[in-house]
Amino acid sequence: MNHPQISTAPPPVAARLRDVASSPVREILALTQRPGVISFAGGLPAPELFDAVGLRAAFAAALADESYGRTLQYSTTEGDPALRAAIARRMTARGLATEADEILVTSGSQQALTLIAAVLLEPGDAVLVEEPSYLAALQCFQMAGARVVPVPCDDDGLDPEALSALVRRERPKLLYTVPTFHNPTGRTLPLERRAALAQAAARLGLWIVEDDPYGELRYRGEPIAPVASLEGAQDRTIALSTLSKVLVPGLRIGWLRTPVALHRALVVAKQAADLHTSTIDQAAAAHWLQHCDLDAHVAGLCAAYGPRRDALVEGLPETLPDGSRWTRPDGGMFVWVTLPDGWDADALLQDALAREVAFVPGWPFFPGPPDRATLRLSFTTHTVSEIAEGLGRLRAAVVSRR
Ligand code: PMP
Repeated sequence: MNHPQISTAPPPVAARLRDVASSPVREILALTQRPGVISFAGGLPAPELFDAVGLRAAFAAALADESYGRTLQYSTTEGDPALRAAIARRMTARGLATEADEILVTSGSQQALTLIAAVLLEPGDAVLVEEPSYLAALQCFQMAGARVVPVPCDDDGLDPEALSALVRRERPKLLYTVPTFHNPTGRTLPLERRAALAQAAARLGLWIVEDDPYGELRYRGEPIAPVASLEGAQDRTIALSTLSKVLVPGLRIGWLRTPVALHRALVVAKQAADLHTSTIDQAAAAHWLQHCDLDAHVAGLCAAYGPRRDALVEGLPETLPDGSRWTRPDGGMFVWVTLPDGWDADALLQDALAREVAFVPGWPFFPGPPDRATLRLSFTTHTVSEIAEGLGRLRAAVVSRR
């Protein structure tokens, strides 16, 4: 007997995803990857500076007869011991005394954010962030059902004075900050503010998440102590970093340095997420760090990126409409522009794309009401002469809108 076919819609996606928009930045990046476009849009390291030779040798060693039984096998959740030791030495050398067993290797530092959200956040909890802030961190906190609350910022980054009132009102569990060469603004939090932030977090009972993917890419000035190393923040900061910007992002090797109180919970969350980060990739990274000179490699990156930063910053007065403001970062990858009142970066992007030059409008980076006159420019992926050509095209787009 034939039954009429009955069709019932399958259940919808979970509520936690309904309010999380797909990243407009990733969608804009797709538009900007057309051949011929000079793109200030991505936050990508320059591929010509990847150490393919060193990485080829590192993978060959990791796959050698005496190694592959271990490097192609399942492994521990915490990560490759040689890699954890190398990361701990590096963090210690950069001013944050660290033992290997404090390090949890993650699949990119992006995964560290997901693990932190899983371990600390209940739906409805408040998270404090800089305004504007790294977009994929906002997505991650929103997906955990958190309320993302912006902390007022000025040219030096977040204002620690504003924290007491916010904490009293919102009762947040954590504050997420990118204090060095911030994404998207390029700003760096000065030492006095770091110290004030560390003390405020201790006084107010907050976790701090200190995300530092860019700190080693410094082109001028002296390094500043990590927040995690300062009085008050020591046992309440989860410090994150990654090989993505100093070696290659495709390896997907990041890490977090766990306060003792969170170590077990983070390891359990990592087990549930992916058991462990790719064993072969960790082994290759450990081999590279052991046999190649990361300091020399980073110095090479800085020697290439510094002049690109200068070309962009020095070309902006001629490019942007009168009354524009922009940051002058000492490192990292980004310059943040605020166009004069009445300008809309989305509209300018359309004219820019028609002239084969691209950038990212700033509005997606705002957790609260956005400033639509803002945009982010990245200077790492083009040569100095391409940057000059790109700024000329951007100038033409600006002139066309007046
Ligand atoms: N944090 C910040 C501030 C970033 O800009 C990025 C990458 N753009 C990440 C974390 C994630 O980097 P990865 O997962 O490659 O380590």
